[in-house]
Parts: sequence; structure tokens; C-alpha cells
Amino acid sequence: MQRTLSIIKPDGVSRNIIGAVVQKLEKSGLNIIAMKMIHMTRKQAEGFYVVHKERPFFASLTEFMSSGPALVMVLEGENVITRYRDLMGATNYKDAAEGTIRREFATDIEKNVVHGSDSTESAAFEIGYFFNSFEIVKYRLSEK
Ligand code: GDP
Repeated sequence: MQRTLSIIKPDGVSRNIIGAVVQKLEKSGLNIIAMKMIHMTRKQAEGFYVVHKERPFFASLTEFMSSGPALVMVLEGENVITRYRDLMGATNYKDAAEGTIRREFATDIEKNVVHGSDSTESAAFEIGYFFNSFEIVKYRLSEK
């Protein structure tokens, strides 16, 4: 079993496509074990994306990520990091495969609707950045 952090970014929340994105997660069998709305400050967004601080788009990305509410989730399942990234599609929606979230909903390389951790190490950091252990359910009824 593996966990990953998912974010529906401010563009997805403001365009009212939370439900459509969550439906894709559920249909793909990715279990949501934590979920909440947040509105990051610029500093919080900079801390979250610290690995990208030297990238030319860092200022723009952190401004965008702190521009409005976002929905953060923890997903759990076998091989969930790769399965969720496959469902998200390529960073640039123009390169994303048919049926992926970004291909269907993204409008821009930056405003690409969703985030997903890219490794077990980043998942651990990113989940801990937003959630404490009381906010993550231990099991779902279907697994009882
Ligand atoms: P991801 O793992 O597919 O989200 O991609 P990265 O970790 O490489 O980049 C993090 C986020 O930065 C992406 O999801 C985009 O929102 C944004 N981003 C990536 N590349 C670019 C770029 O070339 N320009 C801009 N403006 N934003 C970018």
C-alpha cells in the first residue's frame, strides 16, 4: 500500500470541476483517505514547491497556487503514486494522453488543474505538509 498527495489547484476549484476530477479518481479505484479545502499563503506555496525554487516559473507558480482555494487530498492504494500520475497526464496538457485529467480539463502548462507527488519521498513530505494523522482515515468501510 502506498499514499500520495493530490491537489485540485485553484484553477480547478474556481472552475467548479472538483466533482468531475473526484469522479475520475473514484472511477479509477484510487481511495481518498483525507480531503480538505485550503487557501495557501505565498509563503506556504513557496515552502511546498521548494524543490522548484531555482526554476524560472517558481514566482508565477507560487503566485498561482496561493491565488485562491485548493482542495488537498491523500490517496491510498497499490502503486498509487504512478497510477495517479498516469491519470493526471503530462505536465503540459498538450502532451497529455486522451482520457487524462489534464488533457480533459487543463488550459495552460501552469494552470493544469491537478498536482500529484512524484515519489514516495515527496509524498511523505507533501502529505505531512498539509495533514496530521487525525485527519487521515485508517480504513474505509469497503476494506473492513
Ligand atoms: P508535475 O509533476 O507534472 O506537476 O510537473 P513539475 O513538477 O515539473 O512542475 C510543477 C508545476 O509547475 C506544474 O504542475 C505546473 O503547474 C508548473 N509548471 C511546470 N512547468 C512549467 C513551465 O514551463 N511554465 C510554467 N509557467 N509553469 C510550469
